[in-house]
Amino acid sequence: MGSENLSFDSLAVHAGRADLSELGVHAPPLDLSSTSPLPDIELGGDSYEAMACGGHPVDGGGFVYARLWNPTVARFESALAQLEGTEEAVAFSSGMAAMTATVLAARAETGGNHIVAVRPLYGGTDHLLASGLLGAEVTFCPAGEIATAVRPDTCLVILETPANPTLDLVDIGAVVEAAAGRPVLVDNTFATPVLQNPAAHGASLVLHSATKYLGGHGDVVGGVVAGNATWAAALRRVRSVTGALMHPLAGYLLHRGLTTLPVRVRAQQATAQQLAAWLGTHPAVRRVFYPGAPDGDPAGLVGRQLRGCGAMLAIQLAGGYQQAVRVTNGVRLFTHAVSLGGVDSLIQHPAALTHRPVAESARPGADIVRLSIGLEDVNDLRSDLAQALA
Ligand SMILES: *Cc1c(COP(=O)(O)O)cnc(C)c1O
Repeated sequence: MGSENLSFDSLAVHAGRADLSELGVHAPPLDLSSTSPLPDIELGGDSYEAMACGGHPVDGGGFVYARLWNPTVARFESALAQLEGTEEAVAFSSGMAAMTATVLAARAETGGNHIVAVRPLYGGTDHLLASGLLGAEVTFCPAGEIATAVRPDTCLVILETPANPTLDLVDIGAVVEAAAGRPVLVDNTFATPVLQNPAAHGASLVLHSATKYLGGHGDVVGGVVAGNATWAAALRRVRSVTGALMHPLAGYLLHRGLTTLPVRVRAQQATAQQLAAWLGTHPAVRRVFYPGAPDGDPAGLVGRQLRGCGAMLAIQLAGGYQQAVRVTNGVRLFTHAVSLGGVDSLIQHPAALTHRPVAESARPGADIVRLSIGLEDVNDLRSDLAQALA
């Protein structure tokens, strides 16, 4: 059956698997080869050349070497591209490797060396961009100031929505307009393709820390960038040259993770909605950061851009940092750990951990903790938070 007519949930189960029956297998093959037998010098060489320049393997030329191509990872890439509604996707060893490759590719593609980054961002991304390690000049600004921040040499505009950790929402279409033709990268890690497809709103590139919801079980690290064929070639070229590969086992696990992504995200979201509403009435909580909170969506993006409020939330504690210490030490069902998007619920303190490297002026408050809601029963999670907040 052609995948063109399938709904999102059916695609999540079947994308990247069209040839399995023909191969006589039910689960995708896991190819761990570091090298591949060459058909002959000529064809093998052509395939090498094509892939080293960012293309696909040549018919009959083989995959040559695992830094250039892996068929298990390619299945995950194809499936993710279909879920994001882009021509292709390129997978990397982590979300940060994906971000690094995107910056290098954008510089190479456009010849510009200036990046506009919309804060807030994941602490690791903020750190990478502020560090100067990649040799690009970076202007940080709020979403409303992009039009004045972009320059003729701006090669990329980077934003996150919902943003880590305070779930700020950014209007992707408005950013694309303000960027006036410069490529826009949206980090879609929090929303997942279940709740948001940035490419449909004009984003050139859609990035995921696949470590989070796409994997969904806290046992795989990876990153992926979706975009058109030209961007995919530029990204694969960077990947084949610099070597920030996704391991085939990670590709296998992520491809499997996609099959349950829609049901996981919707179930986790339903629980998060209930917890956010309850936390909003709790005397120990000063503010709930959640797109579904009363002040969580000032621009009215839920429904228009974001199809649901998701399963990430943050709370500002009336008792400040001391209470954040008590809550993170006091939870029993939640795990006190960084990362997010898995089947089990996590809690962490952004200012001390995920956002520690961020400039102090842009760092989240010491009275804020971030929660990733998993698949546990909502009553058990509520009881756990109630005793930790008491
Ligand atoms: C975790 C995260 C990243 C970085 O991904 P890694 O897989 O940890 O390298 C990037 N963006 C967001 C929003 C994240 O949560």
